[in-house]
Formats: sequence, structure tokens, C-alpha cells
Amino acid sequence: MKSSVRLGKLFGIPISLHVTFILFVAFLGMVYLFQGGTKAAFTGVSFILALFLSVTLHELGHSVVARGFGVKVKGIVLLPIGGVSQMEEMPPEPKREFLIAVAGPATSIVLGLVLGGASLLLYGPAATFKTTVTGGLFIPNLARVNLLLAIFNLLPGFPMDGGRIFRAVLANAMPFDRATAIAASVGRVFAIGLGLVGLFTNIWLVFIAVFIYFGASAEANQVRIKTAFHDVPVSRVMATKFETLSPDDRVSRAVEHAYNGFQEDFPVVEDGKLVGVLMKPDILVALHEHGPGALVGRVMRTEFTTVTLDQTLEQVYAAIQTCRCSSLPVIDAGRIVGLVTLEALGRYLVFAGAGSGMDRT
Ligand SMILES: [Zn+2]
Repeated sequence: MKSSVRLGKLFGIPISLHVTFILFVAFLGMVYLFQGGTKAAFTGVSFILALFLSVTLHELGHSVVARGFGVKVKGIVLLPIGGVSQMEEMPPEPKREFLIAVAGPATSIVLGLVLGGASLLLYGPAATFKTTVTGGLFIPNLARVNLLLAIFNLLPGFPMDGGRIFRAVLANAMPFDRATAIAASVGRVFAIGLGLVGLFTNIWLVFIAVFIYFGASAEANQVRIKTAFHDVPVSRVMATKFETLSPDDRVSRAVEHAYNGFQEDFPVVEDGKLVGVLMKPDILVALHEHGPGALVGRVMRTEFTTVTLDQTLEQVYAAIQTCRCSSLPVIDAGRIVGLVTLEALGRYLVFAGAGSGMDRT
């Protein structure tokens, strides 16, 4: 990622700062400088940096435990809204997800208690437990912030740790997708409540509520799609009746087929072998640049993705997202046997979802 600056490694995990984070700290530094002079700017910026060091340690808590379970951790990126651990996809195993999710808030609580203890020794109970909104001492403030960080992350909604912990607990007693759906619903209800409270108290809460509301929906959708596509063979949704073109055909032939049917992408076949594909955008470009008389062989794509008959819809969906195309030829024993379209995948989701009642939770 070019938009972030690599700082170094902690416990073997790369830590980087996102450009927006650097701008954010610079901006706050300027605000402090104009409002309170150099000393205020120094204290303010030091506190922000200490706060983000706390966030980094929180994320490291997740990352180190995840790595212990064999999950690859690409690194931690710090954004103005917090830290993000970039992990490869975790196996949906409730016990592991639970431990990985708990590790972050646990780290923050330990940090908060250690700093609180240090503050008690240094300043005594009066200064440690005095809650001030502005000003106050550095260490007690940092202790409080770490405890707040733990509480904030334990809120019961995705993408917070609390949402993942809640789902992991539910997933012990029911299938993963159902646990996700329930956790997402609870997260949405919680977000609406939080948003309403925020409207009358603190606008920041509204911002967090929106974040949780959409986080819940995104997580639920992703899991719904994966579950619906899991273990379903591609032959379930692929079209077996479709038009093909030959490299010697004219582009006008593709246009005729498009007028007379539903097809917009065409496999190009020569001597029974798939030699190219002509997608809707290619047809439009060819018409514009060469006219309807252009030879298909000249304007087709010769580099394209295919899937094989033994693949599942989950794999096909991943492939179609990676290639950003609208359809994929299905190959069996070197020959094209079908065409799977994004539309067909969408249709499957709608009907399979209606059949199993997954939408109703
Ligand atoms: Zn966390």
C-alpha cells in the first residue's frame, strides 16, 4: 500500500502509518500551537502519539494471538479512526475467533490497569481518579483512555471486537451464518439506540453508530454469500445453452446474438477450443473503433480467466470478483461446457436465500 508509511516491526509484525494519520496529527499539532503555544502543542501531540501507541498495542494483541493460530498477519496500519490489523481470512472457528477478538481489549485493560497503578504510586488516588475533561495529568489520562478503548471495542456490533466475541459465543451453539445474522441484528439495534442517544448528547456517538450499523450489514452480507455459495457446484448455475463466436466472425454477429437473446459476453471457439472471449465492453469498443465489420479474432481478449467444472460457487465468485468481469467460461477436459454469469450468481442468492429463510433473521 503506497498510501501508508512503514515505521518498523514490533514482534515481527510490520507497523505503518496511513498518510491521513500523519496529516491528522500535524493538523492537531497546529491547532494546539495556535491555541496554547509550543508547550501545549508538544503535550497535545505527545498525548495523541501515546494514544496511538496504545491502539497499536491493542492491535498487536489481536495479531500476536492470530499468528499463534497460524493466521498470516500482513501488518498493522494506523488510521485517524484507530488501528487496523491486516490479516488473511480466518477460518470460521468460534473458539479461535473468540480468543483473537478478546486479545485486543484484554491488552487495553492490562495497559490501563498498569498505567493506573503507576499513577497511584506517582500521584496518589486523588489525582488518579479525578476525571477531568481537559487538562489533567498525562499518565492518569492515558490509563483512562486505554480503559475507554477497551470499552469502546467491546460494544456489541461489527466491526468491533464485541461483535466478533458475541458471534463466537453464539456460534458455539448454532451454525456460523445464523450466529452472524443474529450478531448483526443485535449490532444494528444497538447502533440505532446509540445513534438516538448521540443525537441528544454527543455527535461522535452518532458517527460511531453509523459505522456500526453499516459494519453489521456488510459482515452479514459477506457471510450470507459465502454460506450460500459454499459447496455448491458451478454446474448448478452455469448456462449450458449459449452462443459462441468464431475468430472469423464479424462483431456484427455478436450484436445480432445480443439483440436476440440475453447474452452479452461470448466465448470465442476455434476447432472446439476456447481461444478468446468477447465481453460487452469489448463489443462496444470494437464497434466504436472498427465498426461492425471488424473480425472477432482481432478484437477479442486472448488473456482471460476460466473456471473448471469441479469448482464451487464460492471459488467462482472469488474469481469473478478478481477479474472484474461479468461472466466466466467453464472448462471441462479442455472444452468449454458452460458459461457462468454474475447475474446467474445473483439469481442463485435470491432464490437460495428465499428457500432457506436466511433473510428473515
Ligand atoms: Zn480490537
